[in-house]
Amino acid sequence: MILFREAATLHLFLEKCNYQSVGFIPTMGALHEGHISLISLCKQNAETVISSIFVNPTQFNDPADFKKYPVTLSEDILKLEHAGSDILFLPSVDEIYPKGTKATVHYDLGNLENTLEGYYRPGHFQGVCQVVHRLLDIIQPKTLYLGRKDYQQCLVLQKLINLLNLPVKIIAGPTLREPSGLAMSSRNVRLNTEQRKQAASIYHSLQNIKNNFRSVSLSRLVADTENLLIRNGFVKVDYVSIADAQTLERADDRSKEKALVALIAAFIGDVRLIDNILLTE
Ligand code: AMP
Repeated sequence: MILFREAATLHLFLEKCNYQSVGFIPTMGALHEGHISLISLCKQNAETVISSIFVNPTQFNDPADFKKYPVTLSEDILKLEHAGSDILFLPSVDEIYPKGTKATVHYDLGNLENTLEGYYRPGHFQGVCQVVHRLLDIIQPKTLYLGRKDYQQCLVLQKLINLLNLPVKIIAGPTLREPSGLAMSSRNVRLNTEQRKQAASIYHSLQNIKNNFRSVSLSRLVADTENLLIRNGFVKVDYVSIADAQTLERADDRSKEKALVALIAAFIGDVRLIDNILLTE
């Protein structure tokens, strides 16, 4: 694996190599099997694998969350090497934002900007678009590999690619889970043993929604799920939402024939977890 820290050097190297097909997997590090599954997917598709590790300050609406974000760089490098990443881009904040982190562009994300994650994390998706726009400019991949775990992020980045009219295809990989059903996440290391057990009820709640959404009213299902999460040890539920799978607009009982997704964001202690499930495959 070749490691680059400078954007200009990486860009020049890629221009010289002129690879047939480059797949790119952006990450914020603290890698787990979910991240590695995206590297494997990219390799299966016979693309040159470029991964990046960059904890992007502009997508953290809560500075405390940014400070607490886990960093496990040496282990990450070994994992990526082992998984077969060909290139790792490991930039500093100055490399990504040479003119400073203040945004100069506002991306028009429509409804996706202010709903669900956008509502609870103001500015988050502008920060995500800012960093991914910059990374795509440097790397110019053919394919962008993302995890469906961050469902709204996948929709936002498809919107970004459409807005910028870039020739990049998104492949969204499935969510990897612990045996308990808990979605793997870099933030899970901040859960103690008891909290980890409790956290699995997010996934069980999502499965329950999937099993019952055709026969039970959606508003009832949402209210019951919120109560269940609180009873199972969650201290705060930001949202339980059953929504249109493309627009994330709230679904009602008349929209059960559409493609729907259920999404949850809730706190165990001070750790905020998100997860989702497609109700119609
Ligand atoms: P992050 O490091 O959290 O920014 O995540 C980097 C990429 O890995 C994103 O596209 C995530 O959606 C994806 N990812 C995170 N957790 C998982 C998981 N449990 N399964 C699959 N992909 C994941």
